[in-house]
Amino acid sequence: MLTNQATTRELYDRYVIPTYARFDLRLARGKGTYVWDEDGKQYLDFGAGIAVTSVGHAHPRVVRVMSEQTGTLVHASNLYYTRPQALLAERLVRLVGAPGKVFFCNSGAEANEALYKLARKFGNEGAPPAPKHSVGELISSDSNRHGIITMLGSFHGRTLAGIAATGQEKVKKGFEPLVEGFMHAPFNDGPSLLAAVQEPGIAAVLLEPVQGEIGINPASADYLKLARELCDRHNLLLMFDEVQCGLGRTGDWCGWKTLMGGDSVMPDAVSWAKGIAGGFPLGAIWVSDRPVKLKTGSVVPLCDLLGPGSHGTTFGGAPLVCVGASEVLATIEEEGMLANAREIGAYALGALRAIDSPLISEVRGVGLMLAVDLVSDFASRVAIPPGRAPSLWITDQFHAAGLLTVPSGALAFRWLPPLNVSRAEIDSAVQITAELLRKLA
Ligand code: PLP
Repeated sequence: MLTNQATTRELYDRYVIPTYARFDLRLARGKGTYVWDEDGKQYLDFGAGIAVTSVGHAHPRVVRVMSEQTGTLVHASNLYYTRPQALLAERLVRLVGAPGKVFFCNSGAEANEALYKLARKFGNEGAPPAPKHSVGELISSDSNRHGIITMLGSFHGRTLAGIAATGQEKVKKGFEPLVEGFMHAPFNDGPSLLAAVQEPGIAAVLLEPVQGEIGINPASADYLKLARELCDRHNLLLMFDEVQCGLGRTGDWCGWKTLMGGDSVMPDAVSWAKGIAGGFPLGAIWVSDRPVKLKTGSVVPLCDLLGPGSHGTTFGGAPLVCVGASEVLATIEEEGMLANAREIGAYALGALRAIDSPLISEVRGVGLMLAVDLVSDFASRVAIPPGRAPSLWITDQFHAAGLLTVPSGALAFRWLPPLNVSRAEIDSAVQITAELLRKLA
């Protein structure tokens, strides 16, 4: 018998596998930058589902097209063609600004899985580097390359390959043996990357232009330039995980272009998810059309390497979510949200930095990816209850004050509001933050 009398929390405790240590909030609805809990309490949503609801909750344009599409065609198998998928692919290639093709899936982890498979195909079937670029005796002309260099501090998702790729020990524990073939290099460290690409059997480098989960850590322009040069020199794929930082969050469609101030560095492949469809599950990769010489001697565009039968998904790229994603991306474009992310992001960064609190050690940000580091002795200064990390404890306090933020590690919290967040909403969040820190200090 269903227990309608039980609270949401009780039902979770009984029936939902406890993979999350959830905050004690039961959210019921959202509109714009606000959400409401089951008791009707309102919160400013500066988490946006961890950088997901890019145009805010229930944007009327998205509600309209998705309602219409629900009555038209929700799903069709990838055995067939559907126009919404075709149009979204065309739009995404245009947003990258370089020729290539797109594959659709359902999440960030899955998008990265497609990148790993692309790298393996490239390494196994592609011709090895020319001798002058080869890594000494380590790669013979017929050897397969399948290694992928990823970065310490990175996050690439929770699949088995995702946790192997992720440069954080905590996600791997208990799930050994890990998928082999991933090697981690310190982020933003040129000499380490230079050494890593010379290891035997490497096929690709995968990095987040702005590391998100670790607490907003942007790559330097020099590092991205070096990564491109090294990948060219050693015939490796350069792949960017833009699941969190892509599609507008940094104030450009492409996070790396924000960091480079243009397109002087271009990757071979990119993964997206999170904000791409404003809250509906969708992941995607873009792959460039650069020619790849195969061991067989033939040359194919990189974007055609994953050919028929090599990869697939039941749900990825279904008409409903593609119509929604196209509308989300059109809304970002037509309502000036890239400029908003840049301008309001800079305003928010300045306002957070202006909070004069002895409990803050650093404020960082790119566009509307912002992080505040708490001082290392926060727990003892504020005398928080033992066993709760400062980042989680302060998130509880923000919730009580009506603001949703996202913890990062033990000592930081992030703001990842919708890309159309207003100056007044930033002011309210700054006021809540300043007031809380003042009380705590
Ligand atoms: N890559 C990055 C950079 C992420 O931030 C995340 C999620 O936080 C992922 C991949 C995994 O995405 P998903 O949770 O949709 O699988």
